[in-house]
Amino acid sequence: MPKIRCIECGREIYIDAFSTPYDAELKCSECGAQMQVYVGGVGQGTIVKRKYPSFEELNEIWEMLSDVEKKSIYEASLSLGVGAYTASEMMSLRCLEGILRRIYGTSEMLGRLIERMENDNRLSDLKGILTYFKDVRNRVAHPEKISSKLEAESTFQMTKKLLIEIVNRLGR
Ligand SMILES: [Zn+2]
Repeated sequence: MPKIRCIECGREIYIDAFSTPYDAELKCSECGAQMQVYVGGVGQGTIVKRKYPSFEELNEIWEMLSDVEKKSIYEASLSLGVGAYTASEMMSLRCLEGILRRIYGTSEMLGRLIERMENDNRLSDLKGILTYFKDVRNRVAHPEKISSKLEAESTFQMTKKLLIEIVNRLGR
């Protein structure tokens, strides 16, 4: 019977993987962390991931975010964990829209806010990230499009990265 370690507290957990591939969700009895566990076939590895991806990289700027922005990134993580990928991307974008409206003192929509960032010389070296978000915004704005897991995961990562840059360069 394979055993894994809790990603949070390190406790050893035995799992009942009678047949592989095994893909299941489990909760650590010690600390309560929820994980997604994947055990491949013979010769393949075991993957243990958080069910709800972490946003602890934001600790350093957390108190600079508004309650709605905090809740938005939290919901982006929750949605990702349950496979609601389109919802997750929308919450990531909503978080960015919120902080940018607050910092630029406007109620413009995200597309216009991204243009503002592109023209802001404090952010001029972030062209790659800004182009990424321009594309995501255009994609998510289409009601007939559904986001993939990869898209939602990457948008969640990029959102955390951009939030840190925005707060450090524009928000303090
Ligand atoms: Zn644990």
